[in-house]
Amino acid sequence: PSYDSVKVAVRVRPFSKREKDASSKCVISMKTNCTTIYDPKNVSNEKTFKFDLAYWSHNEYLKNTEGTLVPDGPDSRYADQKTVFQDLGQGVLDNAWQGYNATLLAYGQTGSGKSYSMIGYGTNRGIIPLVCEELFRAIETNQEENKQYQVTFSMLEIYNEQVTDLLSKTKKSGGLKVREDQHQGFYVDGLKLVPCESYAQIERLIEQGKKIRTTASTSMNASSSRSHMVITIQFKQVTTPLFPHFGIRSHIFSTKALYILLEEEITKQSSINLVDLAGSERQKASASEGDRLREGTCVNLSLTTLGNVISALAEAAVGKRVLHIPYRDSVLTKLLQSALGGNSRTVMIAAISPADICYEETLSTLRYAERAKKIKNKAIINAGPTE
Ligand code: ADP
Ligand code: MG
Repeated sequence: PSYDSVKVAVRVRPFSKREKDASSKCVISMKTNCTTIYDPKNVSNEKTFKFDLAYWSHNEYLKNTEGTLVPDGPDSRYADQKTVFQDLGQGVLDNAWQGYNATLLAYGQTGSGKSYSMIGYGTNRGIIPLVCEELFRAIETNQEENKQYQVTFSMLEIYNEQVTDLLSKTKKSGGLKVREDQHQGFYVDGLKLVPCESYAQIERLIEQGKKIRTTASTSMNASSSRSHMVITIQFKQVTTPLFPHFGIRSHIFSTKALYILLEEEITKQSSINLVDLAGSERQKASASEGDRLREGTCVNLSLTTLGNVISALAEAAVGKRVLHIPYRDSVLTKLLQSALGGNSRTVMIAAISPADICYEETLSTLRYAERAKKIKNKAIINAGPTE
């Protein structure tokens, strides 16, 4: 196995209308892969964080000489969706082709740009649609007589520690159960896994899932920013022997030739988890009554546990003795067990606001990401004879 750290990227979005109306000042600056945050109460108090990547997506529009907003020019520093996809999404796909599991998580306070990066809005498609589109494009161009590809898609939501299938119209009261299996670890019992043949099909499923998510959160009187969304793409490559009885003395020039020599069918598979986490600010929200109370404790439970798991893994990675990693304490960490400290290549996008009014939250997001950076995973290729 190869040990690699969780790859962390930070992305700063443009000012929102609210921030502009409040005449917010920008407290973030970026230089190559360093991100600096300034304390608005004392600008000399600055902190610099170094992550794998830093995306400046702040100045999408600039004021021209007449004072109207125009799109930033071609030499813009603005990192767009395509740039982010090429750096992070393409890597996830490359891993998947090799048979590694891959996980991409977006973390940050509500309104910081998690969904923008992951799903996107309108024509600004995010990493998830772009990954799916590119996966099918690559499948098209890699057609081989003896190779078959299978793609399945699932989409779920975790709210109050209950799992809702976002591809199923019939809602199960109490939610779907998370079970444990010796081989595949934790999984959601009864979750729809839809076999997909094209990107267009996935696009429709995502739209459908988004609608169910909105309906579900309305009926629960909640905002979808209080739930975690997990999309999983299972990608399977099945290679069958071209000449099952080809002589063993024939030439082994390449892995491909080796496959030809094999008399068995070989399967390589990869799970790609794409996670849009609930807004991180609720970790501090105080509990009040009724639903709020349940939410205060439960939504916190998944996110708080994620934080605890990350801390424990970060300590273990620097050689501290850690007796227990609390994966089992929440639904989210059960489902992400292999993504965190396990068999997966993992990427975290820390989404942040540029505004002074979000200073405290942004600082806490950067600190969280800094801990995640320390985690070491050991990813292995999932390949073997077809079972
Ligand atoms: P979150 O999912 O973290 O709550 P959103 O992704 O919905 O936040 O983003 C909040 C708003 O900011 C949206 O209107 C979105 O279009 C805008 N936004 C976020 N990130 C960017 C970006 N990188 N470039 C342009 N607009 C962005
Ligand atoms: Mg969102």
